Amino acid sequence: MQNCDLFVIGGGSGGVRAARLAAESGAQVVLAESKNLGGTCVNVGCVPKKLFVYAADFSEAAQDAPAFGWTQAQAGPLDWPKLRENKNREIARLNGVYQNNLKKAGVEVVSAHARISGPNTVVANDREYRAERILVAVGASPARLNIPGAELGVVSDDMFHLESLPRRAVVMGGGYIATEFAGILAGFGVDTTLCFRADLPLRGFDDDLRKLASGEAEKRGVKLKTGHSPTRVTESDGMRILELSNGEKLEADLILFATGRRPALEGIGLENADITPNARGFLEVDDSFLVGGNVFAVGDILQTPALTPVAIAEAMVFVARAFGGDAEARMDYENIPTAIFCRPNMASAGMTEAQARERFGDVDVYRAEFTALKDSLPGKNKRTLVKLIAAKEDGRILGAHIAGANAGEIIQGVGIALKMGATKRDFDSVVGVHPTTAEEFVTLR
Ligand code: NDP
Repeated sequence: MQNCDLFVIGGGSGGVRAARLAAESGAQVVLAESKNLGGTCVNVGCVPKKLFVYAADFSEAAQDAPAFGWTQAQAGPLDWPKLRENKNREIARLNGVYQNNLKKAGVEVVSAHARISGPNTVVANDREYRAERILVAVGASPARLNIPGAELGVVSDDMFHLESLPRRAVVMGGGYIATEFAGILAGFGVDTTLCFRADLPLRGFDDDLRKLASGEAEKRGVKLKTGHSPTRVTESDGMRILELSNGEKLEADLILFATGRRPALEGIGLENADITPNARGFLEVDDSFLVGGNVFAVGDILQTPALTPVAIAEAMVFVARAFGGDAEARMDYENIPTAIFCRPNMASAGMTEAQARERFGDVDVYRAEFTALKDSLPGKNKRTLVKLIAAKEDGRILGAHIAGANAGEIIQGVGIALKMGATKRDFDSVVGVHPTTAEEFVTLR
């Protein structure tokens, strides 16, 4: 039996940050991870996905290059094994950085699947640990739809290790992962169909953004199939056939289920600490991220936004309260900026127009839709959108939305303004940076 102050189960974004900070504050910390350090974000999510988005963007750059006078520009074919191996090398480097940072902070890293064995104990690699506190940070994993033949499809985790690229792909779902992978695959030259049950992708985002996302995805080669759910998948001559609720059949070499993620809580031994997930399979916590007893939780196993920076911020609040003596530390979920790295990028901070109208009734809406300077010479009618929603009463900005190149980079700064309670007048008082897309935020009339 080994004693420790904190046992962290899961070495993803939340777990690693909590372990490091707690150890740096003098606590004895053990962290168990059964796979590579860095979790979904580093290994099968944000980081490798963004590398793929960069790769896909080169195809668009090559297509546009002749309009800028380049005579030899060529889009493709993509050397997939080379991209995959280069990506693997970078991810292995990051795994090493995580390992080193934990070591430097004095965290004992155990390569094992850990299991809670009692109210204060965890078992990992046949060894029992008695922990003052246990932090569960095991994240979520992709969920296939519960339809016959679903196992014939792949999930996002598989997309990072494909042996070869498909010729034709169907991406099921209209959320973050589906729209991002549809853009990636189309950019790689794969004949790509994005299939979702609503009329527009990205439910929950501002409707103007959703409309633009839909139209611009098509301009970048993504075929859309909307308004139907899949009913089953079959296989014939190595081809996958996806049947839709209207009877239509879509044939492809690869079907990607990007239809949501589920908390990966199975086999963690929660029952041994008398903990039961809620009806949707998530853990519920208080302001200090306490689930019950001495078990705490952060990240995608909570019903909070499933975003790396959210998991990290939750981990920081957990450590501040548990080991930093800061009883006031609290996670603030208001105005969290977020970006979807579909092509072009979409990003938002604050409320959608519909949410703002529902909460405040009448609001002021400012929007500009235009052709960005970089898209002017190729003449492909690509559109960029910038939108602000302001309260009628005092002009406070309630929501900011952007669809276009570098949207994720731009929204971060706008997010600071929203957090500070900036008004439309504050935005107007800022001198623009010209010529940029970002300047539209301070010139909207
Ligand atoms: P999302 O919840 O974003 O999207 C799930 C999609 O699957 C929706 O379009 C949903 O449709 C559809 N769907 C769910 N059930 C069914 C069904 N039974 N039949 C048909 N369609 C169905 O999940 P993702 O898996 O894309 O991503 C999970 C989370 O990971 C995101 O919410 C985000 O928090 C995070 N993430 C963040 C990224 C970023 O920051 N850039 C990138 C990737 C992921 P409907 O909308 O109609 O319900």
